[in-house]
Amino acid sequence: MSIAYSPVTICAIATAPGRGGVGVIRLSGRDLLPLAAVLTAGKVPKPRYALYTDFLAADGVAIDNGLLLYFPAPHSFTGEDVLELQGHGGPVVMKMLLTRCVELGARLAQPGEFSKRAFLNDKLDLAQAESVADLIDAASESAARSALKSLKGAFSSEIHQLTDALITLRMLVEATLDFPEEDIDFLKAADALGQLERLRERLCEVQNTARQGAILREGMHVVLVGLPNVGKSSLMNALAGDEVAIVTEIAGTTRDALREEIVLDGVPMHIIDTAGLRATEDKVEQIGIERTWQALAKADLALVLVDSRAGIGTDLQEILIRLPVGLPRVFVFNKIDLAAGEPARNEVAGHPAVHLSAKTHRGIDLLKSLLLSMIGFSAGAEGVYLARARHVDAIVRAADHLDRAAADWLQVELFAEELRLAQNALSEITGEFTPDDLLGVIFSRFCIGK
Ligand code: GDP
Repeated sequence: MSIAYSPVTICAIATAPGRGGVGVIRLSGRDLLPLAAVLTAGKVPKPRYALYTDFLAADGVAIDNGLLLYFPAPHSFTGEDVLELQGHGGPVVMKMLLTRCVELGARLAQPGEFSKRAFLNDKLDLAQAESVADLIDAASESAARSALKSLKGAFSSEIHQLTDALITLRMLVEATLDFPEEDIDFLKAADALGQLERLRERLCEVQNTARQGAILREGMHVVLVGLPNVGKSSLMNALAGDEVAIVTEIAGTTRDALREEIVLDGVPMHIIDTAGLRATEDKVEQIGIERTWQALAKADLALVLVDSRAGIGTDLQEILIRLPVGLPRVFVFNKIDLAAGEPARNEVAGHPAVHLSAKTHRGIDLLKSLLLSMIGFSAGAEGVYLARARHVDAIVRAADHLDRAAADWLQVELFAEELRLAQNALSEITGEFTPDDLLGVIFSRFCIGK
């Protein structure tokens, strides 16, 4: 996509804040050699070579010394001239260097602005630009590996192949619109339906992989619900593998909605431990209970904890009635060690159930694999590229249009229209058909300097 815009030089500290061996300042803009010359007392950096130099303040005194890298347009990350100043990674010296760049005419970059320029200059498509941010944010090794796959274009190339096949089919269908008498026969002869069927199959495969990628990136939100003392904090600790919640025998001590992030087979799980859900006069406890209900509204899954010895009593049933309709739930019968029970999986009231002990950890693995399978994640899935919910959503819409195209195919105009809409949906992923305001939102969530 080529959009004309004014390439004001932007600059940012590209390395993480704080102290480090090296700190990098990155600049991008048009014609940066004059700026480099002022900064280095007239040195001319050779493209893509490291130049050891002083970086000078306005009075000619060195602020720092280090390496200067020069990537002339268009062979740079952004497609513009890019300079990288590699100095010493102290916050004060980095700030001084950055201020110097601003004195020399650059302005501070907004979050994601380098990536946005790369996108606008066709160096990356939107899915690749997003994977840059996802690689940086990766919460697990699997997520990082998959993000890199997307960054290298594995996901985009699938989408491009699908789009190409769709365009071929559209050309065929559009051509018949000019010859209404022959259209259906012509489409039959060209095996238009067969082409459509193959497209749907491939789209379905891409959807599965992308969905796994989105799960890897976004994780799942799990809420632990249950009466006080049933073992919610203990279960959270058992899943997390370290002590995070206060475990105590006094009912109602877990007062706040408490969040914990754990990683199961590379999938982040955002677990919200809940305040004991019960009627109470205690104001602080009431606030905790209120937060629990708010968290529940956003959850993907509720883990309902039950004491194996007590079973599901009326007080728990009162809570269950208030759970959002349609929120998948898993019953966890805890404390099997006290009930002489064995770890097991079965169904209770039409919901999956696991019998375990949060204290001895027996049965915890059963729960972990159940959770992964419930969100549709096949453990150790290879070949997954990182994707976002917005990508999966676009693929689902494209698939809907293809389904409708198949249903409407005897009415060639409708058939053509559905194919066009399917193509638009796919193009949102790579950014060829993405509204500006959405682009703004996507890039604003990137970090500064990327
Ligand atoms: P919460 O109020 O639901 O968060 O419950 P806690 O996790 O604080 O647990 C309450 C008490 O039950 C603590 O004394 C735990 O050690 C104990 N407990 C939790 N799970 C088990 C279990 O599986 N077996 C046994 N024997 N005790 C458990």
